[in-house]
Amino acid sequence: MLKIEDINVYYGNIQALRGVSMDINKGEIVTLIGANGAGKSTLLKTISGLLKPKQGKVLFEGESIGGKAAQSIVKLGISHVPEGRRVFANMTVEENLELGAFLRKDKAGIKQDLEKVYTLFPRLLERVKQQSGTLSGGEQQMLAMGRALMARPRLLLLDEPSMGLAPLLVKQIFNIVEEINKGGTTILLVEQNANLALSIADRAYVVETGSIVLSGEAEELTASEEIKKAYLGGH
Ligand code: ATP
Repeated sequence: MLKIEDINVYYGNIQALRGVSMDINKGEIVTLIGANGAGKSTLLKTISGLLKPKQGKVLFEGESIGGKAAQSIVKLGISHVPEGRRVFANMTVEENLELGAFLRKDKAGIKQDLEKVYTLFPRLLERVKQQSGTLSGGEQQMLAMGRALMARPRLLLLDEPSMGLAPLLVKQIFNIVEEINKGGTTILLVEQNANLALSIADRAYVVETGSIVLSGEAEELTASEEIKKAYLGGH
């Protein structure tokens, strides 16, 4: 579904990704594991068109998207939930969700998806008219995910959905990620909590200083001594 071939990405003169290649198959949950600053967010931003690779290819369903505008990439079926949620604080929950569908014209489909989002996140339904800036961190994460789903993505990019959330809420968010995946959406998940990410993922890639150093089945990586030591708290 998504194929990345040997990309190099820079911030000015600073190289953030070096020769990164990866594949995501339809229906999978794939996770990116790596320390702070390894380049995980940069990879998501490159897929969603916020950054352009200087070299290499990004192919989505066979089409090259490496130089395309972010908006065109959303239209093709990729939504990005950025780190730190970024909901529009002065707008209501409902308005934020409607914005997620702003590239669509199929009114009936939008209405259907709005209902789906409220089923997935009943808390948002309770807060439809509330200003988004007054929501809790967990609710804002739900809203950011709901807004991304309103574009009806086939591939959903999630950047650190658990950041700053209490453990119980994290569990809830991860259950919903699995539910979204079961509904047919392919997922690329960036997560600091490698244990949790590997527990729901099919496959994982390990990123270190801008390069992929290891990849494999999630189960396999969970069992690997190297991964345990470096990313799973040594247990
Ligand atoms: P984190 O979990 O902290 O977000 P990450 O793995 O997502 O880590 P990135 O945010 O992708 O890492 O950053 C990769 C590298 O690029 C880091 O060295 C970072 O300092 C650098 N970097 C990120 N954003 C910028 C920017 N806007 N300008 C310059 N350098 C940047």
